[in-house]
Amino acid sequence: MGGPGCGKGTQCKNMATKYGFCHVGLGQLLRQEAQRNTQRGRKIHDIMLQGLLVPTGTILDMISNAMLSRPESRGFLIDGFPRELRQAKEFERIVGRAPDIVIVFDCSMDTMVRRALRRGRVEHRADDCEQAIRQRLETYYTLCGPVLTFYQQKKLLCNILAEEAPENIFAKCCSVIESLQ
Ligand code: AMP
Repeated sequence: MGGPGCGKGTQCKNMATKYGFCHVGLGQLLRQEAQRNTQRGRKIHDIMLQGLLVPTGTILDMISNAMLSRPESRGFLIDGFPRELRQAKEFERIVGRAPDIVIVFDCSMDTMVRRALRRGRVEHRADDCEQAIRQRLETYYTLCGPVLTFYQQKKLLCNILAEEAPENIFAKCCSVIESLQ
């Protein structure tokens, strides 16, 4: 978990490569879907551009499909999830268990805005413009509180300070993963 520009995509990709986990990057899967010229694709595109959440049913379908398509995987890194309490609860209902750990990348608002604006310039990502970033931050801060409490009570939450260089943050991620094995 983490707000836009906290570095979760980069870190999840690196952890998946190092430990052989399947990386389920929801933002990435949704961006692919949003490029399709279908009613569903256009709806997802509009929601993302507004910085709002795609309906939970769609998200859980994507996660289930991704997990079921890789039954041999030694683990799954679900990146950008859950973003609201309902997603956390539905995940447990569908998968039948809680995750092993929930990593939260903590970052100041200034850092997140700076990183997302830079990514928008480099990667031409449509929702990395100032207006969408502001709304994504608002969505994150409004909805993440109950999710954090939910996992804190289950003692599954692990906060990582994500202000430093990516390699330093990665070292912290590796310690967390290795402490689980
Ligand atoms: P991200 O790449 O993680 O910043 O996600 C980009 C956008 O995809 C978000 O602003 C949401 O519109 C959508 N999105 C990603 N993950 C989720 C999720 N778990 N639930 C709902 N919408 C999501």
